Amino acid sequence: MTDIPGLWQNFIGGNFVGGGAGRLDVLDPATGEKLAEQALADATDVDRAVSAAKALSEHRAWSGLRPVERGRIVRRMGDYLLDRIDEIAPILTREAGKPLWEAKLEIEGAARYFEYYGNQAETMEGRSIPLGDGYFDFTTHIPFGVSAQIIPWNYPMEMTARSVSAALAVGCSVVVKTPELDPLTNRFFADAAIACDLPSGALNIICGLGKDAGAALAAHPEVNQIVFTGSVPTGAAIATAAAQNVVPCVLELGGKSAAIVHDDADLDSFLSDVRWGIYFNAGQVCSAMSRVIVQETIHDKLVDGIVAMAETLQVGNGMDFPDFGSNMGAMISENQCQRACGMVSEAEREGARAATGGRRLNRPGYFLEPTVLTDVTPQMAIARDEVFGPVLSVLKFSTEDEAINIANATPYGLVGGVFTADIDRAMRAADRLRAGQVFVNEWYAGGVETPFGGFGQSGYGREKGREALLNYVQTKNVAIKLR
Ligand code: NAD
Repeated sequence: MTDIPGLWQNFIGGNFVGGGAGRLDVLDPATGEKLAEQALADATDVDRAVSAAKALSEHRAWSGLRPVERGRIVRRMGDYLLDRIDEIAPILTREAGKPLWEAKLEIEGAARYFEYYGNQAETMEGRSIPLGDGYFDFTTHIPFGVSAQIIPWNYPMEMTARSVSAALAVGCSVVVKTPELDPLTNRFFADAAIACDLPSGALNIICGLGKDAGAALAAHPEVNQIVFTGSVPTGAAIATAAAQNVVPCVLELGGKSAAIVHDDADLDSFLSDVRWGIYFNAGQVCSAMSRVIVQETIHDKLVDGIVAMAETLQVGNGMDFPDFGSNMGAMISENQCQRACGMVSEAEREGARAATGGRRLNRPGYFLEPTVLTDVTPQMAIARDEVFGPVLSVLKFSTEDEAINIANATPYGLVGGVFTADIDRAMRAADRLRAGQVFVNEWYAGGVETPFGGFGQSGYGREKGREALLNYVQTKNVAIKLR
């Protein structure tokens, strides 16, 4: 077992420091036992971190570098994470509960963001606008300055990498507020910053409670831009704080995403989509395939296939799953596990049936069986509310219109999917699904390059792709009268 040092610190202005709010026990979700202690930041620490970021931004020591130089440093940070992947992965597994092979995928995903946005650093070109004789006009992109990034616990490394790499690439300085449930591995971004000569203050990483450090960061008057991923109520609170200071924010909130499966879909291939869609990371994914809306003629056959697949999944301590396979780890916390179990029980009371799973494992840690609920109707809470766990709801449709209407009948709109051999049908669904991203014939078909974000209560603004770079810059126009 990897030795995890006792106390993990905050990283402010290039130094590892304690925190004014004491310490927090970080638990191993697979055992419920204490893993390490994390120093907790208070509002004063938040202020220090923002000041360090602001000072760097004012000196232009980072934003003033030639973009190719910034890009190289950002890319090197990704390489650094890959170099230490064998050391980081067990810590990520033990703080977040995911299988070791999933932890490695997450670190590779984090590194990929640094590669992609490092490469993008040189692409932020403006344009010239013709104004007629006697004038010259051009636009340029100015980094916002201090970007505050509040990170959720489901992918602590990948979510941090997603916004930090893009913000750094365009010349912002960053203050990250890590998730209090699994803050430890964010430390490796600090190590990467030091090892790759990122100027001190360009990246500051603090952990603190949401209601204290998180709220203080979101409301800080020197923060110029905010990125948040997490729950809808917290997103609304952060948007309110941002509005008070008149700064923009990007909100990536929850989802209740649906896959529509027609009778001409490739069902064998779809079973693999379900495996990834709802059981990867124990279903704790904002873009999880939490609903399958299946044509009634193939309902029973598809449910049999999904149940058989779900029953092959071995559930247990992520450290016991070093290699890719048919396995699933723990949920993040007692609260999240109890909440998901409660939603399954409520669905059963409303008439849904657990075709498999539905129960918590009788062992320490936070384990819920891979669950498939059938007889779900669009009116049930389980068809509308996000579970954020390994729980799939199956609904039926008879007409294409009905399928789209059911898929769109939630307040969310993060992603959606359609599985069919008919290109016209696929395009009609792509057009009508109320979602920021639509997958055709493969769930999670996108990548770092493809813009991602929500409609409706799934939030606003886009992460990933070139679109995300625009979160961190303002357009300046220079209009010149030639003499
Ligand atoms: P949360 O929204 O409470 O926490 C996310 C982050 O926000 C954490 O870093 C937290 O410390 C911080 N935070 C909390 N309150 C804050 C405040 N008032 N001001 C500033 N920051 C604050 O989410 P959670 O409690 O960890 O999870 C609850 C639900 O959120 C989940 O069940 C799921 O529905 C959703 N969630 C979604 C995602 C996603 O990727 N979209 C990720 C995690 C959680």
